[in-house]
Amino acid sequence: MSGKYNNTTKTITCSVSNDCGGCCYTGIPYDKTLEIKEKKVNELFKGIYTTKRIVGMFHPINYRNKVHGVVGSGAGGSVITGCYREESHDIIPVDYCMIQDKKADEIISTLRELFSSFRYRPYNEDTGNGFMRHVLIRRGFSTDEIMVVLVTSNVEFPSKNNFIAELLKLHPGITTIIQNINNYNTSMVLGKKNIVLHGKGYIEDILCKNRFRIGPDSFYQINPSQTEKLYKAAINGASISKDDVVFDAYCGIGTIGITAAKHCKSVIGVELNPNAVKDAKINAKINGINNINFVCQDATEFLSENAGKIKADVIIMDPPRSGSTEVFLSSVLKVNPSRVVYISCNPETQARDIKTLIKGGYRITDMETYDMFPYTDNIENIVCMVKE
Ligand code: SAH
Repeated sequence: MSGKYNNTTKTITCSVSNDCGGCCYTGIPYDKTLEIKEKKVNELFKGIYTTKRIVGMFHPINYRNKVHGVVGSGAGGSVITGCYREESHDIIPVDYCMIQDKKADEIISTLRELFSSFRYRPYNEDTGNGFMRHVLIRRGFSTDEIMVVLVTSNVEFPSKNNFIAELLKLHPGITTIIQNINNYNTSMVLGKKNIVLHGKGYIEDILCKNRFRIGPDSFYQINPSQTEKLYKAAINGASISKDDVVFDAYCGIGTIGITAAKHCKSVIGVELNPNAVKDAKINAKINGINNINFVCQDATEFLSENAGKIKADVIIMDPPRSGSTEVFLSSVLKVNPSRVVYISCNPETQARDIKTLIKGGYRITDMETYDMFPYTDNIENIVCMVKE
């Protein structure tokens, strides 16, 4: 165990990592991968700030609570599941993945056998023929609730009830099964229509002592133990106190805003995905939070329309990989919060956006890096700023 990172020196090996492109750091001791990531962040923020530390995991394996498999045809008419080869649509069979939840891998293995015995033909992207396209498993690590999403090319599901009964017999821990219809010629995994085949149609998980409902197509952080540390850092970094109004931009199912709401006067959450907003509103109720409102709108549109009207002491922003927009950032400057916390899964776009905020009069008070995706080259970074 290394003193500096307080993490394991574990090295993982994987038979498919060369092909799948997911874990580029297999074969390298874990501590070393953290050093590489820390260096990367510091290069991106050169001349601006130096990250204090990178927070790694004690057990950096089997951490993914969401596992996706593309369904395809293998040799001799067999059914395979796996991932696309990097920059192609060839399917690499994956039976076990070191970073994925073990239970999810076991369920996917059963699904492969059941698809064969029920003669569900894998979907073929070139011809548009076939039925089964993708499988998606989500597991609440705290609640042990498990969701299985079967993405099919059309609604008709032959022998549906027998199939569900068989799957539940083999995996009684599955709490909900959803059929998602995706009949588009697209590389997107999920289509728009969900049909609940078993259970509630969602799972719940507990994060930072709050209970969250997660639907099949809402964003939820894939590594909950690291997420708890990240959210605590966000709330501490924003020095939130009971008179503060907090704006939670790109709020997903409301996880950060709901966690912050207990420490402040009120929260406004903005999110583009309507299903995530529905979940967020329910999540506030489940946790008895009354001082939070959610708006379903593009974050840039909302903030630019309301910059003159809303008061926010703190803006927490957690945009997708592409980062935020110039208009959003200039609206932040108009709202003029005394603190900004910027969480990002792509420090490259984050560094770009932070430069704009620095030009607008903000100063970095803290920066911490979280290894949310061990052995992959993804990095989660949090920057806390104050208005000078
Ligand atoms: N803060 C949340 C979600 C972060 S992921 C969490 O920690 O769980 C980024 C979120 O931004 C996703 O939920 C995505 O649907 C949303 N999003 C993407 N583009 C957006 C936009 N233009 N306006 C508002 N939300 C957006």
